[in-house]
Amino acid sequence: MRKDELISLANEMCKELSTIIEQQENASKEQIATYLRESAQIIMNLDDKDITSKGFVESLFHNAYKEIAERSISSYANTNENIEKLTKLQEKTLVECNTQQIDLPSLTSKFNEIQLHMSQEVKKANEIISQLTTQVKTLEEKSNLDSLTKVYNRRALSSHLKLLCSNSDLPYEFHLLMLDIDDFKSINDKHGHLAGDKVLIFIANILKKTLREGDKVFRYGGEEFVIILNRVDSEHCEKITKRILEIISSNKLIYKGEGLRVTMSVGTTKYSAGDTPDSIIARADKALYKAKNSGKNQMVSENK
Ligand code: GH3
Ligand code: MG
Ligand code: MG
Repeated sequence: MRKDELISLANEMCKELSTIIEQQENASKEQIATYLRESAQIIMNLDDKDITSKGFVESLFHNAYKEIAERSISSYANTNENIEKLTKLQEKTLVECNTQQIDLPSLTSKFNEIQLHMSQEVKKANEIISQLTTQVKTLEEKSNLDSLTKVYNRRALSSHLKLLCSNSDLPYEFHLLMLDIDDFKSINDKHGHLAGDKVLIFIANILKKTLREGDKVFRYGGEEFVIILNRVDSEHCEKITKRILEIISSNKLIYKGEGLRVTMSVGTTKYSAGDTPDSIIARADKALYKAKNSGKNQMVSENK
């Protein structure tokens, strides 16, 4: 990424950060300090490998804000719940006082005052929750990253493929790989959905680490991923795909003391002039189908 791109990205992030802080009308200094600390953390956690494109860093940033907003929502929801619990407790105390004949009128008026104050707090918290929910939705729409695995999502794949296919004199070859975890349903069935989610993250991390800078990983759907390999010929594509399959099948994820192993099937195809996003995906999908039907844990290529 060039220096001027980094500068403009930093400016955009600052602008966005101030908009977010301005929108939090009732935020305390402490909350704002937390926002800033968390944004610094996000930036520190960026992998150098990730800073290759402006779009990627932007989507990481949007995604991270989505997480912060989600956390804020749950913390407001907790406050809301606590206030409700307190209200019930006050009512109980009031009834008890009544039976014990303590200076009831002044006590009642005090409780009423507290009650009014608390219901105003609940109202405020509800308003903030609904504002934050809208913000999360907007950030989600803007985001190009899959929130579970942190690889690109299907929306990003669609715009990336559109761009590649619209360039009639693409100066290099690219291959598209469609990968699907074998018998993934049985992981969910045996170990639970959470274990399945961990496996998806585990696979996404292996794919990200195995590929070179410039190659892109997308989560296409549930347990399906797409990889775009740039500037490789068919022989090289086959080598990379086989290496991915080997790394996946020889590694295991330790979950609750148990080693979870999965394999994947892959369909690969080479971009050919005249391809559209749909035609190239359909060819890779057809190859994947053949890999599944030939016994899984293998790759099949299908070219025009
Ligand atoms: P095959 O080898 O033919 O691909 O079999 P499979 O079991 O992998 O495929 P199938 O399509 O029968 O099942 C896919 C499963 O993936 C079903 C669905 O519950 C699960 N799945 C999809 N998305 C997620 C997710 O985000 N998290 C988890 N844990 N499971 C998911
Ligand atoms: Mg599938
Ligand atoms: Mg599957």
